[in-house]
Amino acid sequence: YATTSTSTFRAADTIIKKTEHGNPKPDPNKLVFGANFSDHMLTIKHTNASGWEKPVIEPLKPFSIHPAAKVLHYAIEIFEGLKAYRGNDGKIRLFRPDLNMKRMLTSAERSVLPTFDGNELLECIKKLIQVDADWVPRSTSSTLYIRPTLIGTEPTLGVGASNESLLFVVTGPVGPYFPTGFKPVSLLADTFHCRAFPGGVGAYKAGSNYGPTIYVNQLAHSKGCQQVLWLYGNKQHITEVGTMNVFIYLKNKKGSNELVTPPLNGLILPGVTRQSILDLGRTWKELTVSEREITMDELLEAHRENRLLEMFGAGTACIVCPVERIIYEGKEYNLATMNKGAPLTIRFHDELVNIQFGRKPIYLFLQI
Ligand code: PMP
Repeated sequence: YATTSTSTFRAADTIIKKTEHGNPKPDPNKLVFGANFSDHMLTIKHTNASGWEKPVIEPLKPFSIHPAAKVLHYAIEIFEGLKAYRGNDGKIRLFRPDLNMKRMLTSAERSVLPTFDGNELLECIKKLIQVDADWVPRSTSSTLYIRPTLIGTEPTLGVGASNESLLFVVTGPVGPYFPTGFKPVSLLADTFHCRAFPGGVGAYKAGSNYGPTIYVNQLAHSKGCQQVLWLYGNKQHITEVGTMNVFIYLKNKKGSNELVTPPLNGLILPGVTRQSILDLGRTWKELTVSEREITMDELLEAHRENRLLEMFGAGTACIVCPVERIIYEGKEYNLATMNKGAPLTIRFHDELVNIQFGRKPIYLFLQI
């Protein structure tokens, strides 16, 4: 893809305007995901004519936007999601944020939005978190969610690249995904709707991928399921679960324990958690880790032959989320995931939490 900009902003140029009246912090035990915001936000404007302006950190406030702004009509928007974790040592850490920056840049290119130096955005995000450091929960389970976003703001209705853009970052405290311990989910394996298709944008974190999923998720809810198992094609390839990557742990026909996740074939979002599970799993001798295609037929055959061990979703919000039941073509399948307490799923969860909170420093952290 042609990049729309070769320039970048510099974190060292950031203008910081701090609020004099910080908002009261919410009750840490009653955090609803995405409902609470820290005091400050980061904004950086771009025009094709003049390039990037200086980054600004200022009190969080609504911004005004022209009704013809392209983002409001053609959904020229991409975003990221990552978290800051406060360890027992009081230090704040980000988990592999370089992967989020890389993904944000590929999403921006695919949407013909301006690119930038990912390290500079990371430095700006560090500054934002330093300003709002009090908002990073002092907790071993709650975290600060970070939402970098890039929108096309040019106020013209032509379907074309946006000559004006706005990059902004808001943050807010979020609670644990499973406040009372692991809760396995039920999935509707939908054979009609699909999330992504070859040549489409499923591999990018574009807002336009998410709006259309809400209807299908409501369908899942109406059938007593929490999330959708996204399938693709005549062979019903398994692609993702809700807004998570999917992992299937089975005893394969050769008798060895294999952890399977679909390959990055254009239908799959390259999740940071997915990559981390692959990286960790490959260091464990007792299982084979495969990035390969897997169909509903293969999953159900393993289920029938008692070879299916565990199935789980993986993403920043929950880390891992066990799957215990699937509705597919009108039939219900109760999977073995929780029969022995999902030991592999829990092992990944515990390892990753320990790394994220700085208790097991095997990855390079960005310490704030
Ligand atoms: N798939 C989709 C469709 C997602 O929205 C997400 C969340 N970003 C993921 C997978 C998991 O990605 P990550 O591990 O980077 O949160």
